[in-house]
Amino acid sequence: MDTQVKSARRARSWSNPDTAALHAGYRSDPTTSAVCVPIYQSAAYELSGDLAAIADIYNVRADGFTYTRIINPTTRVLEKRFAATIQGVDSLALASGQAATFTCLMNLTSGRPGDNIVVSPYLYGNTWNLLHNTLRRMGIEARVGNPAEPRSFESLIDDRTICLFGETVSNPICALLPVSALAEIGSRYGVPLVVDNTTTPLVCNPAKLGAALTTYSATKYVCGHGTTVGGLIVDHDSFPFEQHGSRFPLLCGPDEAHGDILWHEAVKDLDDLGASAVLLKARMTWLRDTGGCASPLNSFQLIQGLETLPLRMRRHSETAGHIAAMLADHPKVERVIYPSLFQGRDRELASEVFDPRFGHGAMMMFDLAGGEPAGRRLIENVRLMYHVSNVGDARTLITHPVSTTHTTVPREKRSAAGIHDGSIRLCVGLEHVDDIVKDLSDALNAV
Ligand code: PLP
Repeated sequence: MDTQVKSARRARSWSNPDTAALHAGYRSDPTTSAVCVPIYQSAAYELSGDLAAIADIYNVRADGFTYTRIINPTTRVLEKRFAATIQGVDSLALASGQAATFTCLMNLTSGRPGDNIVVSPYLYGNTWNLLHNTLRRMGIEARVGNPAEPRSFESLIDDRTICLFGETVSNPICALLPVSALAEIGSRYGVPLVVDNTTTPLVCNPAKLGAALTTYSATKYVCGHGTTVGGLIVDHDSFPFEQHGSRFPLLCGPDEAHGDILWHEAVKDLDDLGASAVLLKARMTWLRDTGGCASPLNSFQLIQGLETLPLRMRRHSETAGHIAAMLADHPKVERVIYPSLFQGRDRELASEVFDPRFGHGAMMMFDLAGGEPAGRRLIENVRLMYHVSNVGDARTLITHPVSTTHTTVPREKRSAAGIHDGSIRLCVGLEHVDDIVKDLSDALNAV
């Protein structure tokens, strides 16, 4: 298809995320005119018509639905709508956030042992495991840079580096990734920056600062209600993969995993799937072969969540800002880590990575003067907040990392990562701010 026609069609997506989240990718059902996205709970699609035309779909020479492990109409709406909402060109939905991270990274590998990824040390625990254990056993090395010194990432890059990787705002200590500095380093070496933006959708836009691909655990804020597990990879079409064929031979050269296809050529024949060669390859090889697809019902639930994502993120941030200020003034609280309170270099970085229209996100950490006993006492005395180790629910969630998420991490390693015995993580929900303040104040009084 003519590229001008394709880009004109894509340009129809709304630049305002509030509108895109409600309208992008779907108007009404072609057979029933249903306004809400139908759940196409079907594994397969009837292959009607000319066999040559059907073969074209299987050979990625034409768009079409084949099998739900690879593509599904409900999931496809989620993918297009999410991409439009966060200004990507397309996205790929997977069964979980972990499946999204795994698929995104594996899709960039060269197919030969010896690739490496330069990573931030501040990562979600299971992503850390994926990188340092599972991928290492598959011959892919994770080299750890220091986000406070972006040049440390540069010194670890070599001709087998497939990407730089980190989380925009780390969990739980809110360490910020120097996104534009890393993207600039990567662009000099022909290495894309991949960012997990799970905790700050819309609140941060790493792609605007140069990230090539972003990943999301949709389980968190995209879903927003703690009901559904899912993941998304978004292509922002900012990295010229095809100019770096020696680093990405499977993406740029003939790929024998799909009949020696050239992915950058294949997208030119497609409309619906024609926006992203990287995601086309991920779908047609990794998703096809490893099977971590999103279920249509989960995609439907994630679409419901996505429709209110912009609204919810503003409210999460607004309330979290009040709670952080209240905690910063409390005599039993020694330290509050929340980006609106950052000073010096971190404040400058915060003004770069956060979108002022959406505030500073829902997550914060604070330290109690009384150490671990104080942390336990606080948790035991909350009435409104939920004591769970999840993030990204509509309800306010409170966690004592030392007795839950980080209980197996040796004390000195925890302290080096800024997590102390009296540290508490809070993911501020959508309740009325007065009720959260009251619950926290009552629990602090009991400490
Ligand atoms: N990335 C981050 C930053 C997370 O916090 C999580 C889960 O907590 C994941 C990835 C994994 O997501 P999922 O649980 O959907 O597999």
